Formats: sequence, C-alpha cells, structure tokens
Amino acid sequence: MNLDSRNVPYVISSFDLPDAGRLMVHNCEDCACAVSDDRHILGWIPVTSKNSLDMYTKFIYNRQIIEIPIDNEWKVLFNPLGNNGAVVVNLIVLELLHQLKHGSTFEEIFKDSNVGLKKWADTFQRLISLQVIQPAGILDRSPNFNNNQMLTAWLHITNACNLDCPYCYLNKTSEGMDEATGCATIEAIVNSALNNGFQSIKLKYAGGESTLNYPLILKLHDHAKTLMAEHDIQLHGVILSNGVSFSTKLINELKKRNIRIMISLDGIGYNHDSQRSLINGKPSFRLVDNTISKLIQSEYHPHISITVTQRNLNGLPEVVQYALERNLTFSLNFFRENDCAVHVHDLKYQENEMIDALLHTFEVIETHLPRWSILGAVLDRGQLIQSRKRPCGVGQDYIVIDQQGKVAKCHMEIEKTIGDVFRSDPLLLVRQDTKGVQNPSVDEKEGCKDCTWRYWCSGGCPVATFNATGRFDIKSPNCNIYKAIYPTALRLEGLRLLKFSGYQ
Ligand code: SF4
Ligand code: SF4
Repeated sequence: MNLDSRNVPYVISSFDLPDAGRLMVHNCEDCACAVSDDRHILGWIPVTSKNSLDMYTKFIYNRQIIEIPIDNEWKVLFNPLGNNGAVVVNLIVLELLHQLKHGSTFEEIFKDSNVGLKKWADTFQRLISLQVIQPAGILDRSPNFNNNQMLTAWLHITNACNLDCPYCYLNKTSEGMDEATGCATIEAIVNSALNNGFQSIKLKYAGGESTLNYPLILKLHDHAKTLMAEHDIQLHGVILSNGVSFSTKLINELKKRNIRIMISLDGIGYNHDSQRSLINGKPSFRLVDNTISKLIQSEYHPHISITVTQRNLNGLPEVVQYALERNLTFSLNFFRENDCAVHVHDLKYQENEMIDALLHTFEVIETHLPRWSILGAVLDRGQLIQSRKRPCGVGQDYIVIDQQGKVAKCHMEIEKTIGDVFRSDPLLLVRQDTKGVQNPSVDEKEGCKDCTWRYWCSGGCPVATFNATGRFDIKSPNCNIYKAIYPTALRLEGLRLLKFSGYQ
C-alpha cells in the first residue's frame, strides 16, 4: 500500500467504550431472555493486541463480513459468525481489507511503505483480534455460544389488573399469589438453580399488575436474598408494571432492594390510551407519565417497554423520542397473537407498515443517539449483541410460576401448566416437557439454516411462530421485517461507536 503520514487507520469496536459491557441493554424484560444483563457473568472478554504480529502468515479478509456504509468516510463491519459485534473502520482500513480479499501477508502489503508501520501493525493485529481478518485456509467457524449462567423466573404475583389492554394474553381474575405459595416458589427456584449449577437468578415480578400485590414482592425478594446469600447465588429482580400507580413508599422500597422497574408505555397520549385504558375505560397515559416523572425525580430510571401493534405504529417514533429525551432505556416488542386477543382485528400489523415505522423510529434514534447500544432493544426478539441459537430461555433456563404455584414454560402460555412447585423441581418439569411450547435451535428451523442473521435473530418467538404457522421448527412470520431492519440497526450502532468513542 502507498501510505503517507495522513493515512491514519481507525478501527473502533464497542470494547473501546469505557464500561462497554454495561452499555448493552437486552430486550428481555417482558420475555425470557437467554442473554444475561451483565456480560461479565458470561465472559465478556475485550480484545487485546498483546500477541506480536506474524509478518509472514497469509491473512484473508473474512468473507462472512457484512459491510454497511455509515457515510462517505466510515463503514460498519459485522461478522455474523464472530463474537465481537459491530466494528467501525475508515476508508483507508477498508482499502487494506479489500487488498486482503485473496490473502496476503503483512510484509507483502507494506513492503514498499516506510511510514507509520507500527500503527499499521497494531491495526492488523486488532483486525485479527476482532475476527475481521483471519489466517488464510481456516474454515468458517461458528461463534462461541456461552452457557447461560442465569436462571430466569417469571413470578405471577397476581392475576388481577387495573388495565384492560386488548392484546393481553391473560384471562384475568382477582386472585393474587399468597405468601405460603410465594415462599414455596422461591425455595423451589433456588433448588432448581442449585441442582443445575446456575450462578444467578433473575426474578421477574409480574402479573396482571404486579404492584397490586406489592407487599408480597418485597417479602419474597427479601426471602430470596437471604436464601441465595446462603448459597452464594446472585439475585437480580425486576418489577414489570403498567405504571398507573407507584407510591413514594414503594419506590423507596424498590430502590433500597435494587429491584429494577420496567414500565409499559405504548405511545404518547392517544397512542398509549388507545391500547392501554383503565378497566373503567378511562385513559391511563397521564398516570403513567406521572409515575415515570416521579421515578426520574427519585433518580430511579425505569426501563420502558413498548408493545407495537398496528394501532400504535404511527406513534412509535414519538414514544421512542420521549424515552431518549429522558435518558431512559427502552425496548420494542411486537404484538403476538393470542387466544384472548383473537377478536381484536386492528392489532395485527402489516409488514410494510411495520418496516416503515421502525425505519422512521431509527431516524429519531439517529438524532438522539443514546450512549447504550440499541442492538439488544429495537429488534423484537432478535438482538445483535450476543450470538445464540435460541431466541429465549423457554425449555432451557426459564420458569413461569402462576399465582397458585403451578409451573408453565412461557408466560404467554401461563394456563398450560405442567406441574407445581410443591411437588417437583420446576426447571426439570420445564426441561422434560415435550407437549407445550417447543424451542428448537435456529439450526433446526426451516428457512433459517442458511440465513446470515441466524445466530442473532434465532428465528423469532416460538409461540408467535406456532400461532401463525402451526409449527415451531420454521422461520418467524416476522422474518422479512427482521431482515429489513438489521442492517439499519447496525448502522446506528456504528454511529454510536463513532460518537461515544470520541471520533465524531
Ligand atoms: S427468521 Fe428470518 S431473519 Fe430470522 S434467522 Fe430465520 S431466516 Fe433469518
Ligand atoms: S416463547 Fe416467545 S413469548 Fe415465550 S418467552 Fe420465548 S420469546 Fe418470549
């Protein structure tokens, strides 16, 4: 290559941001995520360039890499079979990579250059570490799939709710979980974790509206904390709420225990109210907005969960802007058809309209780029943060316990119980079941096996796929939407890396 001192190579990855692992937000709050909240638990290993460069080994530009332009100067590279996420490079690095398409040694490429060789050797090494280039002759690899060390449990604290959302999958009653059932549930979950070597447990306090039975949440969390401390298991807690009512006392109690808060907000004003009204038919947006303001004032920022249906599609950019302006993390969940919502005809989204709304939303994100990565939050059940073979932990490391202590595999199928916490190991029940929701690996799904995105998308929610197709082992009905938005999401990630690593 002909170099002069103005040719400065730049290679930027998320590892260049301080506290990189904690800037990953996972879209798991209303679902069973197989991805941990804390990359350190799963072995988040930053790349290093400690090894000295072998000048005479032939390296090749990894042919799997997807190139996505950011602007005239920068591109994002993404290796779908790698483990290092998005990598941003400038044009001079891209020129080097294209020279490596058929394989070359460092010595061959730079033999006529005598300027900045040290910098280029570092760049070369960095590209190797980030799996952008690899020794020639090596077969395409699969990514490393980490074993999840966290057991996730959905505790159905109550079957009652003060809202009447048309997409809700519950047949609601006024029944709440009682203390004896709750304690037995916690003990059974801890036993499952111990029997299976989990290092941490995430409890999702859910319902119905979980805060309607909040004294039980506090009791169960304290009970779990004591029990897990005895066994050296880490405890994570999150309360899933509609945000209609949060007293200052409750906020303080949750803060004291470090229980995170997820609030559902589907739009601003009418867009929220049209699908999240109170049971008396009155609107709930103002109440939820008040709760969010109160939480921000208490310096206890909630996570915002946005359910996207055909009804609120047009308001999606606006609600995302609301979250970004308040420095709140958020996630997008596409409406999933279910038996309770079968008679509501304006929830099922049209593919093209969903893609348009998401791309408009991405434009809003571009003008309000958050410091955290949106790659785990805006892609429904897909994510581009950590490779995985399944979209969620169903059948593996996820347990749902209803208000009576009965065990189910997925909260969307909470009435299809397979045993209870009083007589059995709940995780064993979930793992052994062959009749309820099945969660095959993406490699087993028709249409997914050769897909570029397979280890990031994992083929979508199995319950949603089954409801649409009658099969679990087939690609998601949202496949076209996912494929349309992944590249744009990666471009946003590139912009984030440029902005927060100080290059732009
Ligand atoms: S659902 Fe579609 S995008 Fe997802 S892995 Fe399967 S083929 Fe790929
Ligand atoms: S099956 Fe679908 S709804 Fe159930 S936990 Fe998995 S992704 Fe979520």
